[in-house]
Amino acid sequence: MPIATVNPTTGETLHTFTAHTPEQVEQCLAEAAAAFAHYRTTGFAERAALLLRAADLLEADNEAIARTMTTEMGKPIAAARAEAAKCVKAMRWYAAHAESLLADEHPAPGDVTDSGAASARVRYRPLGVVLAVMPWNFPLWQVMRFAAPALMAGNTGLLKHASNVPGTALYLGELFQRAGFPRGCFQTLLIGSDGVEKVLRDPRVAAATLTGSEPAGRAVAAVAGDEIKKTVLELGGSDPFLVLPTADVARAAQTAVTARVQNNGQSCIAAKRFIVHTDVYEEFTAAFTAAMAALTVGDPMDEATDVGPLATEQGRTDLEELVDDAVRHGATVLCGAGRPPGRETGWFYEPTVLAGITDAMRIDQEETFGPVATLYRVDSLDEAIARANHTPFGLSSNVWTGSDEDVERCVRDLQAGGVFVNGMTASHPALPFGGVKRSGYGRELAGHGIREFCNATTIWRA
Ligand code: NDP
Repeated sequence: MPIATVNPTTGETLHTFTAHTPEQVEQCLAEAAAAFAHYRTTGFAERAALLLRAADLLEADNEAIARTMTTEMGKPIAAARAEAAKCVKAMRWYAAHAESLLADEHPAPGDVTDSGAASARVRYRPLGVVLAVMPWNFPLWQVMRFAAPALMAGNTGLLKHASNVPGTALYLGELFQRAGFPRGCFQTLLIGSDGVEKVLRDPRVAAATLTGSEPAGRAVAAVAGDEIKKTVLELGGSDPFLVLPTADVARAAQTAVTARVQNNGQSCIAAKRFIVHTDVYEEFTAAFTAAMAALTVGDPMDEATDVGPLATEQGRTDLEELVDDAVRHGATVLCGAGRPPGRETGWFYEPTVLAGITDAMRIDQEETFGPVATLYRVDSLDEAIARANHTPFGLSSNVWTGSDEDVERCVRDLQAGGVFVNGMTASHPALPFGGVKRSGYGRELAGHGIREFCNATTIWRA
């Protein structure tokens, strides 16, 4: 894929960028390693001051960077502003909490005396240069939720961003420099995916984190495995949204729309499969479908737009193929399932609801990265849970119910990294984020996220 800004609303190529030469990549690696040698010895207060300065700069840049994101990948402008604001919040949160999250851990004295220790503790030391391979869907947030904890822990970062968001990628590199982080602490590499392996195999790189598709995760994890380097993977999802008999159906249907079409439907934690108990199926389906069909599809720079274009032409093709396959195999179209009439340019797709999904359809097992919802009718909680788990993914899950017993069953049995009750899944700096099964491994955010790229060092003293 060329490194370029192509406006998905018009299909127009606005800027093309030349990939970094091998010499430029070498220079970045050398600077990242040199920076780590010193930066690792800085204290939390110094790092926090730098991160807070970066947060202030980003806050001041909100409108400009929001417009860059919307231009590069098509998210509605209000969502882009909210994404930038969320990054500021996470930066301030880690600046405030990193020191306590990484404080030395002391086992109870009685637990270690039989090892001969007079004292023992665990210290979280930084690992080194971490390579971040990031996607275009939340082009600021996906990077910041890595960068803020990594920098607070004393690591240095190299960003290989998706090739279709180079403007946002370059902005991020500059942001940390402007904030005064020592040269080399955080740099953007302008390279294609074919340049990742060489960087990851470089002995100066200690670890990698990737957010993106399963094939990309597999490729990066294979190389990292070969090099015995730590990875965190945050891959796709096909999150279930369970609506059970005691649910507030009207609220569930309203939230279901946002949960499905947020970010034009291109979110790993979007609710994608709506699993509805037969007692409330008709009521939920009518309200949900009406609200999906009423969404405004259009120019994402327009404040009135709910759903903008898909980020890439390939993304729309992939989605169309999934929907067409489902329809060929007998799915019922309740709304959408095509390009909006009258839009000749841009990669738009109508909000779509499909019912009558069967195992024969690809859409049952694959991720729909766009505004397409699939509906399942179930007769019991057992069936709902079995259906929810009937996917290779396990990122998060949503459950709507008034029953504590239902909640406990779901928490016990849903194969997912999150269970959100009577609300939609969202990431938050203070809550760990990540999945199981083919959604990846490791956690981002909270204390779990900052410790992923640390060397938990045992200190034993006689
Ligand atoms: P990719 O997974 O291809 O891209 C994500 C990042 O990985 C980009 O920086 C990309 O670089 C890089 N990458 C891709 N392949 C490799 C590789 N073999 N080795 C190293 N790095 C690689 O996502 P797509 O944009 O192609 O989207 C495809 C699907 O992935 C979506 O439909 C969705 O299902 C899923 N996805 C999930 C996301 C999530 O949030 N979990 C985010 C984005 C996509 P480059 O851009 O240069 O190819």
